Amino acid sequence: MVSSSGATQDEIRRLNVSTLLRQIHVHGQLSRADLTTRMGLNRSTIKALVGELSEAGLVTETIPETSMRAGRPSHVVRPKSDTAYVLAANIGVDTVTVAAVGLGGIIEGRADYPLLRPAEGHEMVIARLATEFRELQASMGPAAWLVGVGVGVAGAIRRADGFVEFAPNLGWRQVPFGQLLAERLGVHVQISVGNDGDLGALAEHVRGAGRGIQNLIYLSGEVGIGGGIVVEGRIVTGAQGYAGEVGHMMLNPNGRICRCGSHGCFETEAGEDAVLVACGREAGGGRAALLEVFAAASQGELRALDGLHEIAIWVARGLSTLVNLLNPDVVILGGPLWSLFFLTGDLIRSELHAMSIFAARTQVQVLQPGLGDDSSLLGAAELAFEPLLSDPVDAWSRRALTG
Ligand SMILES: [Zn+2]
Repeated sequence: MVSSSGATQDEIRRLNVSTLLRQIHVHGQLSRADLTTRMGLNRSTIKALVGELSEAGLVTETIPETSMRAGRPSHVVRPKSDTAYVLAANIGVDTVTVAAVGLGGIIEGRADYPLLRPAEGHEMVIARLATEFRELQASMGPAAWLVGVGVGVAGAIRRADGFVEFAPNLGWRQVPFGQLLAERLGVHVQISVGNDGDLGALAEHVRGAGRGIQNLIYLSGEVGIGGGIVVEGRIVTGAQGYAGEVGHMMLNPNGRICRCGSHGCFETEAGEDAVLVACGREAGGGRAALLEVFAAASQGELRALDGLHEIAIWVARGLSTLVNLLNPDVVILGGPLWSLFFLTGDLIRSELHAMSIFAARTQVQVLQPGLGDDSSLLGAAELAFEPLLSDPVDAWSRRALTG
């Protein structure tokens, strides 16, 4: 049977199964009545769709014991996070975080380990990653269903095949990362690789501080400054996936040389080393040195406060360009950028308003990430869940074929 839009009954059913599973994955739990309202379908259709997902082991249904409402309580549908899961990782500049993440975005197991820069080339990183992933896979037990692998890397990534064009702070250039990891892991699922900033923005949009917000900018500073942009609910990736390199937006034509080859980039003017130097500390001290500076500034050390004010003005310049260009509802600042904002927020706000057009009208909100330090990790998980969420029926029929 073919509908007026040209879609067959089977195509409509598959689309509805996908929409329903995505709702449960994003919201964690919804009653059948909520699903009926959200999806605009009748109760018997929702019941049948939930039944299909339940049979595939992806959701569970419970009947609430008590309900204040009159009549029968509506069944509550939840994701079954210990069945369908993904392996996710975020390769930062200092640290690698790996996790098994269940449906619903629940972290079922995780490990963090340091990255020895610059000694660790991509071969060592991939070998260790494969070992950690196998351990997580073993911990999930034989009944669990691996549906995808997602990795965030601090670099310019070609989304189609996970090719790392350039990761300046890791010292990688033209690494076929996705292909090499697939060869090492030998799993039958899709391996997706994305830029860590893009993935942070994705996770914050789906289940963090930017939930329900259609236009947002996520910025996070580690050694460099990474970021991601969501416009009308979609991550801006550009033609090949390289868009959103906000850390390499030029702010200061007379600035210092950047690892990307340019100079005066956002990250050379406001990244970790810039903060340390401006505050009278030595460059290269890493996260610990940065925390010391923030602590000193909050106790009133003038050198640290002056330095942070200098950096705050660069951050405001970078933000004003982004705000003028994209008119976001929300800017989310992660990592040390949030600590900087916490200490110098008034200055950043006033500079941002002075430099942004329509400053009085664009009340852009600056928020802390809702997912703490796990935004990019959970974004990698979202990327890995995508093949399952976009067509669950196809995913479970392929599961039946591969065993
Ligand atoms: Zn640069």
